[in-house]
Amino acid sequence: MAMEERSTRIYRQQQMLSKEALTEIENLCIHEQPAYCVAACPFKLDAKQMVRAVAGGDFAKALALYEKITPFVHILSAGCEAPCEQKCKLCEAGEGIAIHELERAVARFGKSPKNKGLLRFKKRKSVAIFGSSLFSLFLAGELAKKAYPLTIYCDEPDAAAFVAAGASFLDSDGLNAEVETLQSMDITFRFGTKLTAQLFEQKKTAYDIVGASPRLLSGFWPGFEVDEATMLCKEVQVISTPVGAQGVLASLFGAKKAALTVDRLAQNLDPRSSRGDEGASETALITNMDSVAGSCRIHCEKEGYTKEDAITEAKRCIQCSCTECVKGCVYLQHYKKYPKVLTREIYNNVSIIMGDHMMNKPINSCALCGQCAVVCPNGYDMADICLMARRNMVTTDKMPLAPHEFALLDQMFSNEEAFLCKPQPGFAKSKYVFFPGCQAAAIAPDTVRAVYLDLSSRLEGGVALLLGCCGAISEWAGRYQMYDEAVAFIDARLKELGNPAVIAGCPTCKKMLSQHYDGEIVGIWDVLEEIGLPKGAQKISRPVAMHDSCGARGDAHTQQTIRKLAGKLGCELVETEFSGDTSPCCGYGGLVMYANREVAHEMAQMCVNRTDAPYITYCMACRDRFAREGRESRHILELIYGTNAGEPPDISEKRYNRLMLKNGLLHEIWGEEILEMTCEFPITFMPEALKLMDDRMILKEDVIKVMESFRETEEAIFDSESGLMITRKRIGNVTFWVKYEEQDGGYLIHSAYSHRMKIDSSQ
Ligand code: SF4
Ligand code: SF4
Ligand code: SF4
Repeated sequence: MAMEERSTRIYRQQQMLSKEALTEIENLCIHEQPAYCVAACPFKLDAKQMVRAVAGGDFAKALALYEKITPFVHILSAGCEAPCEQKCKLCEAGEGIAIHELERAVARFGKSPKNKGLLRFKKRKSVAIFGSSLFSLFLAGELAKKAYPLTIYCDEPDAAAFVAAGASFLDSDGLNAEVETLQSMDITFRFGTKLTAQLFEQKKTAYDIVGASPRLLSGFWPGFEVDEATMLCKEVQVISTPVGAQGVLASLFGAKKAALTVDRLAQNLDPRSSRGDEGASETALITNMDSVAGSCRIHCEKEGYTKEDAITEAKRCIQCSCTECVKGCVYLQHYKKYPKVLTREIYNNVSIIMGDHMMNKPINSCALCGQCAVVCPNGYDMADICLMARRNMVTTDKMPLAPHEFALLDQMFSNEEAFLCKPQPGFAKSKYVFFPGCQAAAIAPDTVRAVYLDLSSRLEGGVALLLGCCGAISEWAGRYQMYDEAVAFIDARLKELGNPAVIAGCPTCKKMLSQHYDGEIVGIWDVLEEIGLPKGAQKISRPVAMHDSCGARGDAHTQQTIRKLAGKLGCELVETEFSGDTSPCCGYGGLVMYANREVAHEMAQMCVNRTDAPYITYCMACRDRFAREGRESRHILELIYGTNAGEPPDISEKRYNRLMLKNGLLHEIWGEEILEMTCEFPITFMPEALKLMDDRMILKEDVIKVMESFRETEEAIFDSESGLMITRKRIGNVTFWVKYEEQDGGYLIHSAYSHRMKIDSSQ
């Protein structure tokens, strides 16, 4: 790791990704790719935005977009062959958008602002165009936009005749409009000029660059050809267009190429240099049409759409884009960003803006669930990015402990005080070990007990029990050293048991263990499918919804086996959006519920809002999250074993449950006596205090320690506003404050809060 000293601070640096790797990842995201219609347009008209403006009734905005292509919008809209229409994605489901007719409506109903722009300085190089044609007219429009001093020589007596010579197909309204447009331009006209080769030779020397209509060019210099890439006839250094290219689209495209050549010549550059990407292009966009119903175009009369019909037609546009990942991910919706943008911001924050933690919350709010990678057509995996960023910040000491501290302590609690690893009594070695996972032990200890008793009675060869955490918490927090230690600890215990087959109670544990354990790993669901359901399994007569755990993403076997078990329980399953591999996270994954409660709540809400039916889950954390949102939810093992974990436990109860499960089983199965922790004074908690403590992640145990400290120091202050006493104690990094009243020789706790600061005892 590089250490770099700058002024008074020392920064640790480690690159999260190389720039090349970042670009490679960003390029997976096709969100910014042009819509199909836009890519098909040789002029790169943003038809998608224009149609959107029409759909919103904003014809002025639509016209402003259309006028970016040419000021002669009546000519273009009357005669463009509209190759975009064939590429419209809606053609796959019905009829594509009538973009051409919408353009006609925009030209008719859109109003340009009167004062269109700033005063622009004229360019130094002068240009002359000889002869009338559609090409000449469009080229005049392009050069006027670019502010070249421009002179037009033509036979026609006036502007109307000059426009009509090129665009005879215009109706009178269109012709008048275009004449007005032409006359508003800063162009010098030499109407009624008899155009001869002699006059041409004589006049052209007065200008830096000259152009000619195709008819004049071929008449004066028969056999000389125009280079189609630059529109330049090299032999005579005249800009023009091939005689055959006379449609509206070809003339405008030629005029645009010619105008770019004028730029190059004006700068004394090779006309073929730096021309960029001209004409129609391919798009890599992928728009999911699964939920798009086909529809037909709104009928259009010869004279064009009415305003109302144009709006109705434009409303059929689905505004092609790729937002597949955003549709099912609350995290991306919350931050209103798609992965490419978020990745760049995270990269900048981690790699460039050293010491700035603006993106910490977004980095810690991704559930690392992998749904995006499954739904994205190119497999963009935000989980990879966020986990990489978390690890990098841990390495460089930029990741504060606060967002994950409670969860990390919980992992330590699971693998220390609440840890248990025992072979089945009577068996020196074990063929199996049941690994229920820390959340099952915390939320549904009775269910864990029932499963273990069942497995150890029905499986032969010895079933050990391992109560602990698989290390997912430290992995999600990016604390890779702590994770490695947890892995080594679990692997060592499994080795002591004789490397038995692990029966995982949770899909996430199964996934985590399979990353390092060499022995066999199966799910409890696999075992029950094989040995059959135990006696007492609850049949369900109501329709229920199945929530697939994100730990089982990509594990079709687990998803199907769970459904088979649900079938055996008689469940009628209700289909929900985003199930199976596309299932969203409940808000527990990636430690979101510790780092960003708001996003975690929104994640759980999104899950429950998919259906009104009660939920069956096969991850205890999902069961807990949904129950907290008020939705009836049961883990499938509760149904199978006829247990009921009831109301979701608060954080103190979760720890207590794990400890009691361990102690209870040690006593019941292994006959060991355990001393229970007791409090030497009466202490009760107001219900509001318990709720606050749960929200603020303060354990009863912490409050007891504060009150024990008070009994020794007798330091407390009187809060005159509430009439209660307040005392405090620093435990580890955190100072806990407790508001209480004395009662029956003990304490009634009204509230508690914590703060990460030190109190100077001299104050
Ligand atoms: S699904 Fe998301 S990440 Fe993938 S291309 Fe679309 S917007 Fe980009
Ligand atoms: S549906 Fe709309 S955005 Fe998509 S290709 Fe058609 S016009 Fe363009
Ligand atoms: S929460 Fe899940 S779906 Fe959303 S960005 Fe993170 S990993 Fe992807």
